[in-house]
Amino acid sequence: MELDKMDLEQIVNLVVEQLKGEDTSSYCKEESKNGVFNNMNEAIEKAYIAQKDFFKNYNLEDRRRIIKTIRKELMEDVELLAKLGVEDTGMGRYEDKLKKNKLVIEKTPGVEDLNSEVFTGDNGLTLVELSPYGVIGAIAPSTNPSETVICNSIGMIAAGNSVVFSPHPGAKNISMKTVELINKAIEKAGGPKNLVVTTSNPSIENAEIMMKHEKIKMIVATGGPGVVKSALSQGKKAIGAGAGNPPAVIDETADIEKAARDIIAGCSFDNNLPCIAEKEVIVVDSVADYLIFSMNKNNVYHLKDEEKIDKLASMVIDKNGRINRKFVGKDAKVILKAVDIECEHDVRAIIVETEKDHPFVVTELMMPILPIVRVKDIDEAIKLAVEVEQGNRHTAIMHSKNVDNLSRFAREIETTIFVKNAPSFAGLGFGGEGYPTFTIAGPTGEGLTSARSFARKRRCSLVGSFSIK
Ligand code: NAD
Repeated sequence: MELDKMDLEQIVNLVVEQLKGEDTSSYCKEESKNGVFNNMNEAIEKAYIAQKDFFKNYNLEDRRRIIKTIRKELMEDVELLAKLGVEDTGMGRYEDKLKKNKLVIEKTPGVEDLNSEVFTGDNGLTLVELSPYGVIGAIAPSTNPSETVICNSIGMIAAGNSVVFSPHPGAKNISMKTVELINKAIEKAGGPKNLVVTTSNPSIENAEIMMKHEKIKMIVATGGPGVVKSALSQGKKAIGAGAGNPPAVIDETADIEKAARDIIAGCSFDNNLPCIAEKEVIVVDSVADYLIFSMNKNNVYHLKDEEKIDKLASMVIDKNGRINRKFVGKDAKVILKAVDIECEHDVRAIIVETEKDHPFVVTELMMPILPIVRVKDIDEAIKLAVEVEQGNRHTAIMHSKNVDNLSRFAREIETTIFVKNAPSFAGLGFGGEGYPTFTIAGPTGEGLTSARSFARKRRCSLVGSFSIK
């Protein structure tokens, strides 16, 4: 059908009338694709609007329903997340990423984590409530990308915030996918759009823009020393979850066969990517041979050739002590191939006996290479473990039945997580008690973060009433 001139004029006038009074500047701005924006500033602005709406119009029951739906929907796609995690980063193991993702989906605490405090007395009643910060800026690592986005999102939403993620560029696709799935779940539960957002072009520059933005009221940085230092120097509330180099100490009272099994399970979990994973073993001399013998029964390759050990060290660590990212999170088989060792079957880890100051011991490798250092006795073991942990105060593991030794090491190492007679991942609630997180805040002291870590304490005082003691 053809429109005559009169019809066209009428239509144009009608549209102009409808647009009058509307703010048309927003038409140029970008709409997200399930929480993913090209522009970081735009992502923050949208997360700001979402948080205002969320806090004003949604109650605690709504938050519970939204989190329940996020858990359900993510669990349906957990295999995809594990697969994409390995594909996108080129690091880790599918079957372990599956376990890590399931752990945070199921067990990250929600609204129930927000306990109020109360004071009552002659002067009445005072309540301390846990309120949202507003928009949180969260920086996520390449080593546990979807896991960090999931546990941070659940905790931050439970506390009434919205969150802007700045992921690692090397984990861009898996991080965007996780944000998209969370947004779809929130929408399905009737929640606001853009409560969890990110950018399609993550970079250090975008992380800087995010941290400095006036609408970001809290920064949560999960990563190495660089990002934690940057987050803590922004002049606003920041949580820093930094690097570790967890030692595992074994004394002569330990169940050696179990210790060997547990240490290999922990150090090879997701190819040693978790910051809590055993990074070096310190064993008293009297049980060292038996420990190594027992480790050999747990699908490891015992590298003894001095020449190959040197070659491996120069390949994975440069002269300045920096790790070669090409080998981070790779299968032991792939690492062995680089030093011309072919393995027919899958190997969980490479064990190597070294001196105490070997680069494998003092560097956070994040690869399934486990250095083993012999020491004279428990005194030397504890002293060395404290030294190689390097003041990170992150994680330590001990295998012993001597309560005095256990207590002494726990006291002296001062780590956020101390695991006794189990693989390191028991400290994350995997085979151990307690809730999980992949943001373990040692430097700023929140410890294993959860919803309450992402909330502000606010006091409400009612004077002269409601004390019925
Ligand atoms: P990384 O430090 O290279 O990157 C982490 C994040 O910080 C990334 O998003 C990256 O883009 C960003 N980033 C890095 N430097 C930055 C800077 N100067 N300014 C702004 N942003 C910056 O770490 P990674 O290799 O992805 O992860 C491994 C490291 O993270 C290890 O040291 C590990 O121990 C640590 N980690 C700690 C925890 C914890 O809970 N404490 C959890 C996971 C990983």
